[in-house]
Amino acid sequence: MTMRKILAANFKTNHTRASTRAYVKALDEGMGAMGYEGEVYLFPPATALDRFETANDIRVGAQNAYPTVKGSFTGEIGLEQLEEFGIETVLLGHSERRHLLGESQSFIANKFAWFKERDFRIIYCIGEPLEVREEGDEAVRRYLVEQFEGIDTSYEKLILAYEPVWAIGTGKTATPELIEKTHAQIKQLCDAPLLYGGSVKPANIADILAVPGCDGALIGTASWEVESMLAMLSQVKG
Ligand code: PEP
Repeated sequence: MTMRKILAANFKTNHTRASTRAYVKALDEGMGAMGYEGEVYLFPPATALDRFETANDIRVGAQNAYPTVKGSFTGEIGLEQLEEFGIETVLLGHSERRHLLGESQSFIANKFAWFKERDFRIIYCIGEPLEVREEGDEAVRRYLVEQFEGIDTSYEKLILAYEPVWAIGTGKTATPELIEKTHAQIKQLCDAPLLYGGSVKPANIADILAVPGCDGALIGTASWEVESMLAMLSQVKG
C-alpha cells in the first residue's frame, strides 16, 4: 500500500497571530488550487494557536506543551490552552528543545506518556549531533536507541521525524543515501511513519521524498514563506 506523504511545517519562533492567519488562508487556497489531498501539519508559535476553518486537511499542532491540564508552570501551556482551539497534535523531542532548552529524555518521555494518555497525535523528533555522526553508524544507532527510552514505539498516533541536528537550519541536508541508511536503522526500532527533517527545501524535497522508507518531511526554515511551502507541496506525489 502506498501511503500519502506527510508534510509538517515548524514555524519555531516565527510568525505572528496575524501572519499565521494569512499563511493558513494562502496555504488552504493553494492546496485547493493544486488539488492537494494529503495531510499537512502546521506548528505555529503558541501565541498564534487558533481554530482555522479550512477546506483542506491542515492540522494545527503545538510546538511544545507541558504535561498538565493547567497549573503553576510559568511560561508553559497545558491541555486547557490546547483544548480551547481543538489542538490534538503536539511536537515532542525537537532538538532545539533538547539542546537549547535542556529537555532531558526522561522529561520528554514523561510528556510523551501524558499526551499519549490523552490521545494526542505526537510527532516525535530524534536525531544525532555531528560528533556522534562522525563516530559512525553504530554510535548513531546507540544514540537513537537512547532517544527511544521511555517512549511507547507502538503508539498508533505516533509519527517520527528523523532530524540530524547538524542538518537543522544549517543548509546542510543529509544525502539520500544517508537518510535511507538511517531510516532503515530507525525502522528496526519503531515502525511508525517516519519523516525526514533538516534543511528540506523546494530544491531538494523531491529527492528526499523519493528515498525508500521516507514517509514525509518536517520542514523548518523553508516552510516559513507560504509560496515556498506550496512549491514543496506541488512536488509531493501521493
Ligand atoms: C526543524 O527545525 O524541524 C527543521 C527541520 O528545520 P530546518 O528545515 O530549518 O532545517
